[in-house]
Amino acid sequence: MINVYQPSLGQEELNRIADVFKSNWLGKGKLTEEFEKSFACHLGVNAAHVLSTNCCSEGLFSSMHLMDIHPGDEVIIPTISFIGAGNAICACGAIPVMCDVDRRTQNVRAVDIEQKITPKTKAILLLHYGGVPCEMDDIIELAHHHNLKLIEDSACSVFSTYKDRACGTMGDMAMWSFDAMKILVCGDGGMLYFKDPEARTRASKWLYFGLESKSGYSNSVDKKWWEFEISCFGHRAIMNDVTAAMALEQLKKLPGFVERRKEIHRLYDSYLNEMDWLVTPLPLKEYQRSSYYFYPIQVKMNVRDNLAKFLRENGIYTTYRYFPLHRVKAYEATGEFPNADFAADHTLCLPIHQALKDNEISYIAEMIDKFGKTHL
Ligand SMILES: *Cc1c(COP(=O)(O)O)cnc(C)c1O
Repeated sequence: MINVYQPSLGQEELNRIADVFKSNWLGKGKLTEEFEKSFACHLGVNAAHVLSTNCCSEGLFSSMHLMDIHPGDEVIIPTISFIGAGNAICACGAIPVMCDVDRRTQNVRAVDIEQKITPKTKAILLLHYGGVPCEMDDIIELAHHHNLKLIEDSACSVFSTYKDRACGTMGDMAMWSFDAMKILVCGDGGMLYFKDPEARTRASKWLYFGLESKSGYSNSVDKKWWEFEISCFGHRAIMNDVTAAMALEQLKKLPGFVERRKEIHRLYDSYLNEMDWLVTPLPLKEYQRSSYYFYPIQVKMNVRDNLAKFLRENGIYTTYRYFPLHRVKAYEATGEFPNADFAADHTLCLPIHQALKDNEISYIAEMIDKFGKTHL
C-alpha cells in the first residue's frame, strides 16, 4: 500500500537519541531549549516568542486560556478545521462560530470571517490549509479593525511564508505540530508562538502546573527546594529531550523534505493537468511559499468516493482532510457553507511524503487515468 503520509527518519535521529540516553537526562532540558532556539531561528523570530509543548492540540486548548477567551465568547473558525480546534473552543465554554472557506484552496478569507463578527466575537482561529498561506493582509486588517485576537493553526505550514513572513508569526499566537503524520516529526511534539513575550512567560507557567519557580537543583539553595507556589491551575504539557533530539535533526532536513514535496507537486501537476474531469491545486501567488503538506485534487463529477475506493483497491491510500466541523452534530453549527460542502464532497488528498518515488507517482497518475477511462 502506498501511504498517504509517512515520516522520514534515519540514522541521524537515532544517533542523537543515543546521546540523550548517555546524558541520562530524558526530561525537558538542554536539547528542548536548543530546539526552541533553532525553531525560532527557522521562523525568523526571537526565541523570547516561542515555547515548546507536548503537541499542537495542547496549544489549541491552551490558546483559549492564554488569549483570555471566556465562556460565552465567540471564536470564528473555518468549518474546514482540525477537530482539536473545535474542541478547544467548546471545552472552555466559548462558542465556535463556523464560517465558510474558499472552495478551491479551502482557506478562510476575510469576507468569510467578516459576515460572522458580532459584539461577542473575541478571536479568529484560522488554518493555513495544506500549508498554503491564507490571504493574511486582509485578515490581519479585519482583526485589527474589530480588535480580535488572531490565532494561526500552523500545523500544516511548518515551512510556509506569506510575503516573507513565516506562517504562525503574523497573529497573536500560533501552534505547530510534530506528530507522526506531519512533515517534521518527533513522535509527538508542538511549538507555540506568542506575539507578546509576556504571553509566552504566562504560557510557560500554564504548561507546567502554574508553578512560580523551577523545581530541583535550579531552585535557590537557601530555601527548602520542595516547597512551591503556583500562579494558576495549569496543565503539564512540556516537550522532552528524547523528542527534541529527533526534532533537531528533522529541522535540519526540513528544507530538503519540502523541496522533494514541491517536486512531487510538480510531477502530479504534469500528469493530472491533462485530465479534464479533475482540477489540481491552484498555482501559488508569487508572495506565497507552501510547505506542500497536502496534494488535494477536486473531481468534477460526484465520483470522489468511488475514486478513493478504486485507488485503495489498487494499493493507493488517499484521504480527505478536514471533515467539516459544521457536519459534526455536537458542535451545533448553524448557517450555510456551500464552498466547504463542495470541497468536502469533491476533494481527495493524494499520497505525498518525502519518500514517495517518481515511479509511484506515475503509477498513481496512471490509476487515476484508468479510473477516468473506465468509471466515468
Ligand atoms: C495534526 C494537526 C493538529 C494537531 O497536532 P497534534 O500535534 O497531533 O496535536 C492540529 N491542527 C492541524 C491542522 C493538524 O493537521
